[in-house]
Amino acid sequence: ALDTAQLQALDREHHLHPFTDFKQLGEEGTRVIERAEGIYLWDSNGNKMLDAMAGLWCVNIGYGRKELAEVAYEQMQQLPFYNAFFKTTHPPAIDLAKLISEVTPAHMNHVFFCGSGSEANDTVFRMVRRYWDLKGKPNKKTFISRINAYHGSTVAGASLGGMGYMHEQGDLPIPGIVHIAQPYWFKEGGDLSPEEFGIKAAQALEEKILELGEDSVAAFIAEPIQGAGGVIVPPETYWPEIKRILDKYDILLVVDEVICGFGRTGHWFGSDYYGLKPDLMPIAKGLSSGYLPIGGVVVGERVAETLIEEGGDFNHGYTYSGHPVSAAVAAANIRILRDEGIVDRVREETGPYLQKRWRELADHPLVGEVRGVGLVGALELTNDKAARTRFDDKGSTGTLCRDFCFNNGLVMRATGDTMIISPPLVITKEEIDELVEKARYCLDLTAKELGV
Ligand code: PLP
Repeated sequence: ALDTAQLQALDREHHLHPFTDFKQLGEEGTRVIERAEGIYLWDSNGNKMLDAMAGLWCVNIGYGRKELAEVAYEQMQQLPFYNAFFKTTHPPAIDLAKLISEVTPAHMNHVFFCGSGSEANDTVFRMVRRYWDLKGKPNKKTFISRINAYHGSTVAGASLGGMGYMHEQGDLPIPGIVHIAQPYWFKEGGDLSPEEFGIKAAQALEEKILELGEDSVAAFIAEPIQGAGGVIVPPETYWPEIKRILDKYDILLVVDEVICGFGRTGHWFGSDYYGLKPDLMPIAKGLSSGYLPIGGVVVGERVAETLIEEGGDFNHGYTYSGHPVSAAVAAANIRILRDEGIVDRVREETGPYLQKRWRELADHPLVGEVRGVGLVGALELTNDKAARTRFDDKGSTGTLCRDFCFNNGLVMRATGDTMIISPPLVITKEEIDELVEKARYCLDLTAKELGV
């Protein structure tokens, strides 16, 4: 077998990575992950790490569930591929669609399959416009999204997203997508209380609708809790005010459940946690716990009826829409989440426990805010707790802390100077203790390095 240095050299020679600046890697090079079990990863040097990110927020049932490998093996022999185009279908896609309708909100009983969260949002983009065309309102074209949202990397996904550093590359967003302020109190709340700020941030939606004209706005798209943007848990007043505004105008609600879906908040969907009634829900990640690529758009009655009754062909789809092996694995994954009571345990036991222990970090000199819901959380690193300001070299404190974590057996992500966790939903209380203790140790190392 190749050793770490050989693997890294080949990686550098041939592999172009997403979101990676190879010139900044330095001596250490890329980290080669070789195997995983439960909530732990091992790299090619034999280092064991607690994966507090569940990969990329996706390995909800944890690593190493052999049942999923067996399901994939059997399905590959039975029917490794067939499509769902042109009036054909197959049992795994049918089974998965039915299961999804059982765990999603009551008014959502249809799903369109694709390969990823990005493809799900591209599907949303076309499906929403198709819906309004069918309703005889072709002028309703514009999507309102939020600054710092993440909705994927395809052209429509990155455009719906509100990441400036993504828009810079490729001349995005494409026309018909606008962004309003995010409900990020720590960064943008100023002197307002979180509750006051939540209302203000929501009212930006109404202002934008009035500015554009209700007749031109197709949909509002948002993550229940902004994930990649920094686990931005909105103030409690935010979603009720958004709901009030959406009820007033004839605008579709797209709730991007790619991260919050399948138990992250202790409820099946973030929409359940916040009491939302989405028209469309993009899903991916936890749908298969990342064991195989698959995504989808769950469609509420209103849109589904129109597409089915009036729509004819929807000229959209992917070779891998409802891929039989991915679908079989996703169905087995959902059954594990449901039948083993994993989502219930997050709601009743491990979620509250993590949130209690995580909030203990608020006393650390570097930590300006601790927030989270269920098994997702964030820490804001600050040089002044009262003023909620950052260290001068923005983002570098987060990177420093993240690297200390990596080198001390903890995978925690940094978004600028915000530290993020989203561990597998099977994490135990003892493992939560380990996570929080390691996080504190790495915060201490960061403080020491900064001389705080
Ligand atoms: N939507 C949200 C909320 C996400 O967090 C992500 C990925 O992180 C996506 C969409 C895109 O999903 P994918 O990377 O599977 O294309």
